[in-house]
This record gives sequence, C-alpha cells and structure tokens, in this order.
Amino acid sequence: MKANEAVQVFFNRAADILEMPENQRRLLTTAMREVTVEVPVEMDNGELDVLIGYRVQHSNARGPMKGGLRYHWEVDLDEVRALASLMTWKTAVVNIPYGGAKGGICVDPRKLSRKEKERITRKFVDQIHEIVGPDKDIPAPDMGTNSETMAWIRNQWEKYHGFNPACITGKPVEDYGAKGREEATGRGCGILAFKMLQRLNHDPRQTRVAIQGFGNVGSHAAKYMYESEFKIEAISDISGGYYREGGLDIPEALSYVLENGSLAGYQNADPISNEALLCLDVDLLMPSALGGVITEDNVADIKAKYIVEGANGPIHANADETLFKRGVTVIPDILANAGGVTVSYFEWVQNRQYYSWDLNRVRQQLDHVLTSAFEEVWQTANEHKISLRTAAFMIGIRRVMRATELSGI
Ligand code: GLU
Repeated sequence: MKANEAVQVFFNRAADILEMPENQRRLLTTAMREVTVEVPVEMDNGELDVLIGYRVQHSNARGPMKGGLRYHWEVDLDEVRALASLMTWKTAVVNIPYGGAKGGICVDPRKLSRKEKERITRKFVDQIHEIVGPDKDIPAPDMGTNSETMAWIRNQWEKYHGFNPACITGKPVEDYGAKGREEATGRGCGILAFKMLQRLNHDPRQTRVAIQGFGNVGSHAAKYMYESEFKIEAISDISGGYYREGGLDIPEALSYVLENGSLAGYQNADPISNEALLCLDVDLLMPSALGGVITEDNVADIKAKYIVEGANGPIHANADETLFKRGVTVIPDILANAGGVTVSYFEWVQNRQYYSWDLNRVRQQLDHVLTSAFEEVWQTANEHKISLRTAAFMIGIRRVMRATELSGI
C-alpha cells in the first residue's frame, strides 16, 4: 500500500463514524495544489545534475499552510502528498491556526557536500518562492534538512520578497529561530508517552522502551524520557540497533554520537538489527525513523503494549487495525510528533512580534498545547470505543470541515 492510500484508509475510518458524504470526503482529501519542479544544479565536480522537487499544499482552510521539507532518496509525489495531508490533520488536532503542506527533493543528502546542499536548496527556493511565504505556506525542517537549510531558504526567499523571518521556521536560534524548536518533536513524544502511561496507571520507572531512530526526534525523545526515569533499553540509527537490558545510559550515548557522528561502534550495549529492535520484549516502542516499518509481515511479532509514532506513517493501515484489535495503544503520528510544528507556530508568532520567548515559556506552552490535544483525543476515543488514531482524525476532520463551511467553498 502506497503512503497516500494508507492516509486515505485512516481518513475514511474517521469519516465513516462522522457519516461524511462522499463529495465532502473528496473535498477534504484532495490537495489544493501540487507543484513539481526541476532543480538543475552544478555539483562540486563540475557536472550538471537535475533533481526533482515537490511542494504539495494540501489545505489552507484553517490558515496558512505548514509543513516540512524532506531531502531523501525515497521522496516522490505520492509520499509528499500523503505527508502534506497528515500536516493538515496534525495542525488541526493540536488546534494551531494552520493548514497543511509538505515538500521534498529526491536526493541522498549523505552524498552531498555542504555547498552542493546549499546550491540545491537555493535553486529549489527559486522555483517555489512565489507560492510560499509567511501568510501562504511556511516550510520547516524534516528528514535530511536542518536549521542551516532553513537559514539558506530564508536568505534566498528574502532576496525576492524582502526581510521577513516568519517565511520559514526551524531557523538557527541566533538567527530568528525559537529556543526549544529543535528538541520539540522528540520532547513532545516523551510528554505524550508520559500522559498516556499516567492515564493507564503505568509507572514510567517500570516502563521498558525501545526507540528506533536516534536523529532529531529519537534522540530528544530519549533524553526527555531518560530524565523522566523511563528505562530505555534499545536505541538505533542507520548503523544498527543497540540493546541493554535494564536500560542504556542515554547521556553517554548522546555524547558518543556528538563525538563520532553516529552510534556506529557504540560499545556499552549489545548490537541488534533495526528490524529486531521493533520486535523486542519491551513495554513501549517508539518508531522515530522511517515510515512503513510496522507491516502485516512483522505485526504479529510486535510485543510492545504501547506505541508512540515519532516518525510520520510508521505503521501500515492493516497492521494498525491488528494492533488495535490486540489492545495495543498507539499514539498516532498526527498527535505524537506534533510538538515540532507546535513550536514552529511559536517561532512564527515570535517572528511576527519581533519578540523572543525564553525556553521555559516555550516548554510550558508546548506542554499545554499537547496536553489539551491529548485529553481531547483520549476522551473521543473512549466515547466511541475507537483507536486514538481514528479519534485524532475525527477531531482534525471536524475542525477542517467546520472552517471550510464557515468560509464557504
Ligand atoms: N516536519 C515536521 C513535521 O512533520 C515539522 C513541520 C513544521 O514544523 O512545520 O511535523
């Protein structure tokens, strides 16, 4: 099943409960605008390379569109379309005044020099600058991009439109970025894991955790959860998985990555594969790397009782249903990883006010937004006896539909 089809399945489960007619479903699932652009770039060896870039603007019913920019070799229109619609539901679930969009370039960022990445980024902005901006569509980091990429985007966009740091979020903190933006997605996953366990009377100190992915999301989630006394027994990155019964020393693993660039060669744990990590005998699993990692093929081997989707779309639609029937509680991506876009919103607000919040304020507000959204999703799920995912979609769909009705089609 392709990524966009999976989102449609999730959407339809919620739309069925809402008894939404077919034409409204089409209205809400079809992207408002899909742009594919050529990104010709001169590589360091003097050769010309021609890359393909995308920006899918799914919905602006609730406000300017918002969503990250991904540099990855698997990026295609279908994936970007799926991720753009997830952003619409995500911003609606946490009730921030945005629509949804996503962009990407099909390229392997590991093979690019810094200068090549900069040239590609600037060329991409040349191609899309007219359709993005602070009141239209505000890009942000995603897989393969970071605050440095955002600084280039801002600089290139401002060459056309003049000073306006709110045109992009996830910028470097010293250059109109927000304190706490970088940690926000992972921290949000941790906050929500904590809330869920509280609801289920499960002590974090008795909770064994496996986190797939030790990038921006996984590493910050691990840090927050380690500080909250969860037992993090496994972590992983592209070099493989690392397991230690009783819990890893996360601060040590974090400094190892800082020194060595990745977990490769990390000694204070047993090496396991990324696939084996998913099937470990732990209480809580947090897939925070790629999409589509829990499928019909491995769902029977998943032992965790709780799953927090740090990544976008890590569970296939059929596997999701199996997990629900088995009583596994899944915090879905559109809630679990919404901390990132929530602090992006705070960054945009600060930029527009030329005012900078301190880290405590950012963290408090993030906690507030995610807690309110979590309580609402939890209640809706209990009321209808449905999964947290279907409940989150229901809330998101209702808000987008209402905004569409209010403004007229
Ligand atoms: N790329 C992140 C996401 O998937 C953040 C988007 C944003 O901050 O706009 O939610």
